[in-house]
Amino acid sequence: MYAFDHHYVNGAWVAPAAATRIPVINAATEAEMGHVPAGGVADAAAAVAAARAAFANWSQTSPEARADWLVRIQAGLAARKEELARLIACEVGMPLKLSAAIQVGGPIATFGNFARIARAFEWEAPIGNSRVLREAAGVVAAITPWNYPLHQIATKVAAALAAGCTVVLKPSEVAPLNAFVLAQVAHEVGLPAGVFNLVSGTGPAAGQPLVEHPDVDMVSFTGSTQAGRLIGALAAQTVKKVSLELGGKSASVLLPDADLPLAVKSTVNACFLNSGQTCSALTRLLVPGQHYEEAARLAVEAAGAFTVGDPLGGQARLGPLVSAAQRERVRAHIRRAVEEGAELLIGGAEPPEGLPTGYYVRPTVFGRVRPESALAQEEVFGPVLAIIPYRDEADALAIANGTQYGLAGAVWSADTDRAVAFARRMRTGQVDINGGPFNMLAPFGGYKQSGIGRELGRYGLEEFLECKSLQFKPQP
Ligand code: NAD
Repeated sequence: MYAFDHHYVNGAWVAPAAATRIPVINAATEAEMGHVPAGGVADAAAAVAAARAAFANWSQTSPEARADWLVRIQAGLAARKEELARLIACEVGMPLKLSAAIQVGGPIATFGNFARIARAFEWEAPIGNSRVLREAAGVVAAITPWNYPLHQIATKVAAALAAGCTVVLKPSEVAPLNAFVLAQVAHEVGLPAGVFNLVSGTGPAAGQPLVEHPDVDMVSFTGSTQAGRLIGALAAQTVKKVSLELGGKSASVLLPDADLPLAVKSTVNACFLNSGQTCSALTRLLVPGQHYEEAARLAVEAAGAFTVGDPLGGQARLGPLVSAAQRERVRAHIRRAVEEGAELLIGGAEPPEGLPTGYYVRPTVFGRVRPESALAQEEVFGPVLAIIPYRDEADALAIANGTQYGLAGAVWSADTDRAVAFARRMRTGQVDINGGPFNMLAPFGGYKQSGIGRELGRYGLEEFLECKSLQFKPQP
């Protein structure tokens, strides 16, 4: 049991204003695996006060000193990597091996990456008679979701600390335990008091007071588009800097000359990673009409190869979804797609056989999905792929760009230049060309209603910076 009864504020573990707890549920066993405080307005305010007080000194430390702190946190996380991999596998449901590599290896790398970026960054530069300084944006409220919990925390916290900002983190109430391990690490390495603070609780109770607080300068939010809209509107009342990483409905576009088996298999894998609970998941497979039958056959074959089961068992490639609520949401999407006339090729809304406990959903593929249908427009956040046939490249582009989202995508073609030409016309923040892998240093974020701003790498650091121009009298 991970029993956390205190918030981490001003370098100390402090009792919350009210003793209410939020239970954390193991996604595979449905048993309670821990709890965290259900924080509220007073807890948020105390954390903001601590972050505000610490800002004056922290923002004036050298980038090298801040980089050294990040490296210490990186080492502290690395020392607990096996424990964290298991913990997140249980909180989120991702199979252990993948959890170790992605959910834990990623965040450890991110702390190191931002240390290097801070050391190499051009913190000031001349422009004419001015010197432009890049300075910390201030006190940051970091509000994060549950699907890649520590990764999303690290992309915000490491970048903000590197920038010279102080932070109040409000992690997802669904998978918050890993955030408490990070706070333990920050405490053990002796990070100065108030630089990093942790308050847990639901979004409306503990997150919203941070967004509304006049002493918070910036809100960095990752989560649903619905919550992002509200947060943007609330933050505007005190004219805060806002970065939003929201949902997606990313298209994988197979141009007619693509390597069909490779492209279909890779798309299915990318769609089903973390049981489809990935904001940049390739959830729409766009195929030329003449290749539809073959693509559908290959997709069913790839989906059928996914073993569903216990994330700690070592055999499963697909674990449970994070929660009962998420499982019900995904099942409802599947039922609605059937009602709307999409062809169910494999999977479905019934629970997978032999798994009575755990929030499992069958790997599911729909064929001949209409581009305007709910399944092709709305984020499902489950292991559900929609195959959409298209007529020609213009049709494919219109379909790819035809949602409110613009987070990611993929293009496949035997001719790289042709794929790049298509990618240039896609209105999304990232496009993978012929299976190009995720790059932890490339800017990540959305066009359209997928968000505002970018995370990771140099661009992710700049998100947490202001510009200040000093003017000098030109020398005669
Ligand atoms: P969510 O929006 O319900 O919650 C995200 C976080 O916001 C949680 O910490 C929650 O407590 C908090 N929150 C909710 N309402 C709030 C409010 N009114 N004020 C302040 N905070 C509030 O999302 P979720 O269910 O945790 O995550 C799934 C969603 O996140 C999906 O839609 C997914 O696409 C999106 N997501 C996007 C990215 C990205 O980088 N673009 C990454 C991961 C997840």
